[in-house]
Amino acid sequence: MSARVLVVDDIPVNVKLLEAKLLVEYYDVLTASDGPSAIEIAGQQSPDIILLDVMMPGMDGYETCKRLKSDPETAHIPVVMVTALNEVRDRVRGLEAGADDFLTKPVNDVALFARIRSLVRLKRASDEWRSREATAMEFGVAQDASAVDDDAPGRVLLVEEGGWDSSIVQRVLGEQGHQVDIVKSGDEALALAIPGDYDLVMANDSEGGDVLRLCSQLRSQKETRHGPILLIVEDGAEDRLAKAMELGVNDYLVRPVDRDELIARTRTQVRRKCYEDRLRANYIHSVNAAVTDALTGMYNRRYLESHFERVVARISGGEKPVSLMVLDIDHFKPVNDTHGHDAGDEVLQGVAKRILSNLRGFDTAVRYGGEEFVVLLPDAPASAAAAAAERLCNSISAKPVPVSTLPAGLPLTVSIGVATAIAGHESLEQLVKRADLALYEAKNSGRNRVVVAREGAPAEDEAAEVGERLHAAG
Ligand code: GH3
Ligand code: MG
Ligand code: MG
Repeated sequence: MSARVLVVDDIPVNVKLLEAKLLVEYYDVLTASDGPSAIEIAGQQSPDIILLDVMMPGMDGYETCKRLKSDPETAHIPVVMVTALNEVRDRVRGLEAGADDFLTKPVNDVALFARIRSLVRLKRASDEWRSREATAMEFGVAQDASAVDDDAPGRVLLVEEGGWDSSIVQRVLGEQGHQVDIVKSGDEALALAIPGDYDLVMANDSEGGDVLRLCSQLRSQKETRHGPILLIVEDGAEDRLAKAMELGVNDYLVRPVDRDELIARTRTQVRRKCYEDRLRANYIHSVNAAVTDALTGMYNRRYLESHFERVVARISGGEKPVSLMVLDIDHFKPVNDTHGHDAGDEVLQGVAKRILSNLRGFDTAVRYGGEEFVVLLPDAPASAAAAAAERLCNSISAKPVPVSTLPAGLPLTVSIGVATAIAGHESLEQLVKRADLALYEAKNSGRNRVVVAREGAPAEDEAAEVGERLHAAG
């Protein structure tokens, strides 16, 4: 995940060290050597996360954090306090100043990337939610009866495998208002977690336990695939931790568990789950005639036009990519001709459903025209968009689409054109045009496939030429 990180420290070698680590993982790095310049850069360049040193001459990290969090322009940017001090008092001060998490110097890589990933993902989900809310308001529709409460408590499942006594964790989380359930084994945990109602699964990793197996099982189930997992680990268990992160564990705490870290990390994971749940639910249930297609329940073209502008406004300036797919059902006319218009309608509904269930929470799918769909993927480079399109294409051809009058359903395929641009560099129209050209190519080279458009907008005449050539070939 590429993101822009602002590193703030008064000691140049500390900045260099963090910068080097982040660059290796392809993060964009901004740097500042004191509080006032950090505030200025944060306001101008809107980083996705700020790593903030505590001890700095002049304005210290606490004061800097307080100011960042009290300015509406920067309040939503997650702040991680980076401190050499390891005292509880300092952590409390950090929390009071509005910090989202802590890192202790010397900064360990696993910790660094776990925190960045978790907080950036939270920020993406909440940014996306805000932009959806704004779009919905523009049409005079609330997208959900209630706004997301940033501090809403969650449902937490504690897994007491391997002789872990979770009673202290249970008490601390209970005090924060979370509803906490405890199970004794990984199997029990899996059975309880699979309905997907938990906002966080917290498990202890110990020599005897088999918690990594539980993690991989949770990740392989549809209902729990996106749900946060937080591990409690022994200090120094770096190898197991790296393995756990690879399996998709979101964050961890080291034993003995620090109360403030426990609260901060639980809050981050629960918030993120809450936003992503709302985004996903909002997708499926949004019901307004002005922006929703009545047949499929998807957003319509009008919504896309307005939403695109917002997405671009939000992510442009950071040279971030925005991708778009145009998806068209193959040989759809014969479906109507052979099985009737109602069967055709059911097919459209079935395809829409598969598209929606295959997307990330912050992607937007719309029914663009008759049997044509568009998916907008903010912040997705061409490679990721192509992979998502392939997945979608396969999921539709994998099994027949249900039709009530045909017991075996109807086998179907789709063709997809994909185009990517740097946000702000191309209009929706231009992107759709390029994706459309790629779609024609997919149709003409046999259908049931994905074609990715060339980089950059083609010149008018060139586009026309390619279009003609493809039509001639088809
Ligand atoms: P290709 O593989 O080249 O895409 O061929 P196709 O048959 O899918 O494409 P064509 O554009 O020839 O046909 C699209 C059909 O979709 C024609 C139209 O009647 C039908 N259609 C459009 N909207 C609806 C709808 O809301 N319901 C139903 N049942 N059919 C629709
Ligand atoms: Mg310092
Ligand atoms: Mg078609």
